[in-house]
Amino acid sequence: MKASFARTALLFAALSLTASVHAQVTGKRESPQPTVVRAARLIDVRAGRVIDDATILIEGDRIKSVGSNLAVQSNARTIDLGDVTLLPGLVDAHTHLLHQYYRESGDDNANRILEMVQMGAAKRALLGARLARETLEAGFTTVRDLGNSGVNGDVALRDAINAGWVIGPRLFVSTRALTPVGGQFQSLTPEAQKLIEQEYVPVSGADEARRAVRQAIYDGADCIKVIVNTGARMLSLEELKVIVDEAHRAKRRVAAHATDGDAAALIAAEAGVDSIEHAYTISEKVLSLMAEQKIFLVPTDAPGVDRYQARIQRAVKAGVRIAVGSDLYYEFAGKTRGQVAAGMYQTYVDSGLPAMDVLRAATINPADLIDTTQSVGAIEAGRMADIIAVKGDLLKDITNLERVDFVMKGGQVIKDNIRPGALTAR
Ligand SMILES: [Zn+2]
Repeated sequence: MKASFARTALLFAALSLTASVHAQVTGKRESPQPTVVRAARLIDVRAGRVIDDATILIEGDRIKSVGSNLAVQSNARTIDLGDVTLLPGLVDAHTHLLHQYYRESGDDNANRILEMVQMGAAKRALLGARLARETLEAGFTTVRDLGNSGVNGDVALRDAINAGWVIGPRLFVSTRALTPVGGQFQSLTPEAQKLIEQEYVPVSGADEARRAVRQAIYDGADCIKVIVNTGARMLSLEELKVIVDEAHRAKRRVAAHATDGDAAALIAAEAGVDSIEHAYTISEKVLSLMAEQKIFLVPTDAPGVDRYQARIQRAVKAGVRIAVGSDLYYEFAGKTRGQVAAGMYQTYVDSGLPAMDVLRAATINPADLIDTTQSVGAIEAGRMADIIAVKGDLLKDITNLERVDFVMKGGQVIKDNIRPGALTAR
């Protein structure tokens, strides 16, 4: 169709313009020459220890070896970052990169309708390109994007990043979330209900649930997002079991949104999902079921809420692994999406998690949840060279993560505030 071809062509033109600007900024892609990154210290998140005089040897996009004062080949390109701490690139288990609300436009429901009627797919993709860049520059080298991206806009963004058209984190995407009838919209007129399937896939009954998972996989989903409940509407245990069965058969993980009490989280856990998102209120019974089945909790906590903090403590005590997700979608004046996301870690220190555990919940835990190939989340031989650097003592003050000065993704330097001019000089 002509009209849609023109739209697509325009989008491609805009994306390739961004890509060529980026190529000028960051120089050529990987070279065969090995790279060495050195710094005063490195945090081994798995072992929970600090390695002094850190050396990381990188070949192509992967880490070859890591240790203290390693000897390296003489032909290696050296990036000496000095008195900083290296750690794995941050991993956000719950983002919405093609989704932005404005407080002046009203509440979630008002914004949801405005976004649907005022933003076409092309504009939304470009918003995604912007937020992806902001997220990567803040230090997030991998994110799991969980819906609210129109019809497969997240797949397009992931593929554009992988092709080098735009810069952004490694994306693991869900396509449209599976939901009860009506999606997350509140009341819509019968005419307006046509909008629902532009954003969600409502399912009723086991057959529709199975079909929706198959459609998501066909559409390019890396994982499945299911909204177990919204308002008074809730999926059934039977539907959830089918969703998990079908997703796991295709080696896709299932993220389950559950809020407002315990009922939704309980059936999600009973169905064997891989992570439960939000779960602001959750019982000991569900937490022990989660621990038993190795289901991650993805808290998306706002700071300073006592009951959220108490349930983090209860989750840890029950043995549930925590993978932090930002779930941001409102605009914050004067801050990028990534900067606001990096501000979430202090919330978990306030909830009583030791800083090292927060760093795990920011790296290796979400990586274990999201990435079935185990290629990100730690600075270890064989993993992707996704590395960030910060100044200051992270273990004493986690807010240092809000000022990431160096970002490398897959061996490619994305941001370098430590060595002025180094990026543009290459
Ligand atoms: Zn969300």
